Amino acid sequence: MEDVFNWQINRNMQYPYPAAMPEKQFAAVFDINKCIGCQTCSITCKTTWTAGRGQEYMFWNNVESKPYGGYPLYWDSQLLEKIGGGKWNNNTYAGKTIFEKAAEENKSVEGFLPALEDWSYPNMGEDEIYGGNVAQGMHIESLPHPIWFFYLPRICNHCSYPACVAACPRKSVYKRPEDGIVLIDQSRCQGYRQCVAGCPYKKPMYNATTNRSEKCVACYPKTEAGLHTQCMEHCIGKVRIQGWISPPDKADPNNPIDYLVHVKKIAHPLYPQFGTQPNIYYIPPIHVPSPYLTQMFGTGVDAAIKAYKAAPSDTTLKGLLVLFGSCAELMTKFEVKNDIAIGYNSKGDIVAQAPIQEPHVIRDHYDKARDVYRLDVT
Ligand code: SF4
Ligand code: SF4
Repeated sequence: MEDVFNWQINRNMQYPYPAAMPEKQFAAVFDINKCIGCQTCSITCKTTWTAGRGQEYMFWNNVESKPYGGYPLYWDSQLLEKIGGGKWNNNTYAGKTIFEKAAEENKSVEGFLPALEDWSYPNMGEDEIYGGNVAQGMHIESLPHPIWFFYLPRICNHCSYPACVAACPRKSVYKRPEDGIVLIDQSRCQGYRQCVAGCPYKKPMYNATTNRSEKCVACYPKTEAGLHTQCMEHCIGKVRIQGWISPPDKADPNNPIDYLVHVKKIAHPLYPQFGTQPNIYYIPPIHVPSPYLTQMFGTGVDAAIKAYKAAPSDTTLKGLLVLFGSCAELMTKFEVKNDIAIGYNSKGDIVAQAPIQEPHVIRDHYDKARDVYRLDVT
């Protein structure tokens, strides 16, 4: 085991390989508050990558309802139980990561192989609320809500300390030095499924037809061309923004991902206590009680929600939130000028522009010139 620094848990930890940070790291931010659970992301991924034989059950992108949903079933609660939940001492994780727990038994990764049946219910728990029934005529007027659920869209996190890489005995899983995308070499893989057992997010999936494991490839042909992946581009709710994340000490406030994760700190990793330093970040839902969110996204959720709720009076943050889902090209820089949010690609060309305040026009109910009545006047 090597001693490496994991900034998400704010301490050094044990990992089977030395830290090898890529030239650039693929990353994205998902705003949970805007996800409507339409599954367009799941379907655009499926029709692009997993429409073949042996892939019938695969959703490299899935969207589950929390707290009850999970694909595969109970992927997170089973592992949290094994590593003992998650104790934090302020911003520092005080419990064991999956690598540290495994080292106690001379293994490389603590994990489990889901039962075949557990992959059969991608919609289990969909829209099921926590906290009792909705009474007739009930109005909820305060935050957080006493009864709640939320949608959690998930893809491979292209982790900085990938458990799939650590677990593979054939070294078939690798992290690309040029962009941090994690891939499985299909010509080396022998279908041992150690990556499936080792990944805490259960994102590698086994293809029984080819006897190989497969996973999200971050739409690398699109990413290499400076474009958003399929799931990011086609998101109906404009929930997602993709780009490159810098280490915290090199954060660039003009880079949209750095701004959200490192500067404003409103986007947080999913289960940082697993220890893989995942690179998909989530803006937590404002209506969900803090203890649930803290065990899922770490200790920064209260401050994140406060900053997010203050966005209407924060021109820069509001501008960037407006740019989510606004273009096919990757936006590597942004600025807000004269109340217009502007996104730029890596060449410095403008790829998106949007007013931070939508113009609001109220028209007459009766249009004299056309002699018609309008039902919709705003
Ligand atoms: S989410 Fe899982 S499959 Fe993806 S890089 Fe991390 S450990 Fe590997
Ligand atoms: S397409 Fe967007 S809004 Fe629809 S489920 Fe996926 S992440 Fe949510």
